[in-house]
This record gives sequence, C-alpha cells and structure tokens, in this order.
Amino acid sequence: MSSTAITGIATLVTNDPSLGGSPLGRIRDAAVVIDGDRVVWTGASGKAPATDHRVDAAGRTVVPGFVDSHSHLVFAGDRTDEFNARMSGRPYGAGGIRTTVAATRAASDAELEANLTRLLTEALRQGTTTMETKSGYGLTPEDEARALRLAARHTDEVTYLGAHVVAPEYADDPAGYVDLVTGRMLDACAPHARWIDVFCERGAFDGDQARAVLTAGRARGLHPRVHANQLTHGPGVRLAVELDAASADHCTHLTDADVDALAGGRTVATLLPGAEFSTRAPWPDARRLLDAGVTVALSTDCNPGSSFTSSVPFCIALAVRDMGMTPDEALWSATAGGAAALRRTDVGRLVPGARADLVLLDAPSHVHLAYRPGVPLVTGVWRRGVRVL
Ligand SMILES: [Zn+2]
Repeated sequence: MSSTAITGIATLVTNDPSLGGSPLGRIRDAAVVIDGDRVVWTGASGKAPATDHRVDAAGRTVVPGFVDSHSHLVFAGDRTDEFNARMSGRPYGAGGIRTTVAATRAASDAELEANLTRLLTEALRQGTTTMETKSGYGLTPEDEARALRLAARHTDEVTYLGAHVVAPEYADDPAGYVDLVTGRMLDACAPHARWIDVFCERGAFDGDQARAVLTAGRARGLHPRVHANQLTHGPGVRLAVELDAASADHCTHLTDADVDALAGGRTVATLLPGAEFSTRAPWPDARRLLDAGVTVALSTDCNPGSSFTSSVPFCIALAVRDMGMTPDEALWSATAGGAAALRRTDVGRLVPGARADLVLLDAPSHVHLAYRPGVPLVTGVWRRGVRVL
C-alpha cells in the first residue's frame, strides 16, 4: 500500500465533532493522510507525517465525499416531454412512473447498465463517492431482480422498490400486487438487495400496504426505508419510525406528530429538494426538523421523472437558499447525514479509520457550495484512496 498526504488545505471538513466548534470538525491550514483505502491521519499541514506521495491543495478545501442515500438509476427512456408539460402548468402525480416502467422493461441489460454507469460517473464527477440506488421500474419479479443485480455490480447500497407503484397488470387488483411484492418478487429480489423501500402515498401504497411490504422484507433480512409524506400528509413517516426504518425520505408534508416521532426515533429524515425544484412543489422545512432535534440527510432522488439531477452541490444550494439550512448544516447532511441514512460510519467523515473518500473544492471554504450555485467547484475526487478525478 502507498500513502499520500494532501497538504495546504485551507479548510478541511472532517465531521469529527470531538474537534469542537461546529459538528463539521473543521481544521484550518490542514493536511490529511491516506494509506491504502483509509484515512490514517488529519491535522495541521506543517505536522503531516512523511508519506510516499504528496499533493498540494494550494489553499483549497477538502470535504468528505458526498453520500447520496436516495436515487433511482436503473431505468431506460426519458421524460423530457413530461417535465416540459409540467413546467407549462400541469401538476405532478405518481402515474408518470409507468412511462419509465414500459421503457425499462423493453431495454436490454447492456442499455440499462450503460445508463446506470453514465449517471454514477456523472455523480462522481460532482463529488458523490457513495450512492444508494433502487429498483422500481421493472415491477415484475424478473425485471425487479434484473435491476437489483445490475445495481449491485456498481454499489453496495441497493434497495428493492417493487412497491414503487402498482404494476399496470394489477391496476384492478392492488392487493394482488402487494401479494406479489411480498411473495414471489421478494423471493427473486432479496438476495440482491440490502434495503426494502415503499412509496407510501395516495396513488401508490397506503399505510397498511406499506406495512405489509416492509415487514415482509424485514423478515427476509432487508432493512426498511420509506418514501414518506412527499405529496400529501399520510402515515409514512410514523410507520417508518415505528419499524425503525433507516430513513424516511421526502418529509415534505409533516404534522407535529410526524416531527415528534422523528425526533424520538433513530430514523433519519432525508430531504430531496431536487424533487420539489423539478415539480414546483413547496419545499420541505428543514429548519423545523433540525430545531426539533431530527437527524437530516440531503440527497438527490436522481430519477428521470421528478428529479433528474445527480448533483449534491445543487441540492446543498437549494437547502441553504430555500429550506432554512445553514451552509454547515447542509454539508453535514449531504455527507455524515447521508451516511446515517444508510447506517454507515465508515463514510461521510474524514477521521482515522474512515474510508478515504475525499472531495477537493476549488474554493477557500465549503460555504462556496451554496454561495456559488451551479459552479463546478469539484476539482479532485478520491474514492477508496484512489484519485478518480
Ligand atoms: Zn425516490
């Protein structure tokens, strides 16, 4: 193994709260040392130990690689027309997913995998070093298992989302579809996934159906996460907390009881402002959640219908501008928060022993992620200790 010191870092964000100050654990004029795929040392630039290689950050900023804990990257086709129509005044509903289902079923494995790797590379160039992704555009046992198999070649964080919408073949028999999702489809999918997810929403699955899906998955060793309270108030958030889901995702329409439930449990509230941006919907209220003591993650929800962005920096800028987050909070949520939403401690922070996933920003501080929206500040990326950009 060879070691590398990155020195001359104006601001190093470690997310190590023991360093004091904000939870970001900032070190000024810092260095970080990587050995193999791990961080082995952080501290003052002048005190960095001898290493095989040295990289001069020249007064730029290093932050942990972004942890994007919510995306839907296994799909084919395009929904430009739907976006265009929506921006011309038509509202978003859950039904557009079926358009992508038809295109995805018709695509070859090679086409799906090429699209998946293109999007993962696009995200990596913007600093995302850990990315969860879901099935949910197959909706048959074979098509869902295929999506998960393809996803598992490229990420450890794979989520079975057979319960995205009721498959078109079951339009008149939603109960029969839930039986399929919790039966034969689960049998086909469980070996390829870590997580199980359900779109708990009017027009998708109600609270009882969502509970049936998540408990069936849990019995097969899959851990729950929930698409909850995106379009309307509903039972999703409280169900997520009750079942100790790692994350309740969206959280746009919350009652006080929902916020109290999140504050009293371990479930992370994952906010996905790309979806509100791309559907012209009201923003989730991050400030309300943070003030209640809820752990908040920020992710892209990258998917072809409601949020076709792979850019975590874009989501950070939206969260700061429109959701009441400070720049420090937004960066923490997009790194350590995303890791918490995946129940991981080896990513999302730069401390000795953590995975060497680092982003070099062409900026004197991380605040520029929100201060300079839309500007490509990511000029270096290390993943598992290897420089990939
Ligand atoms: Zn989603």
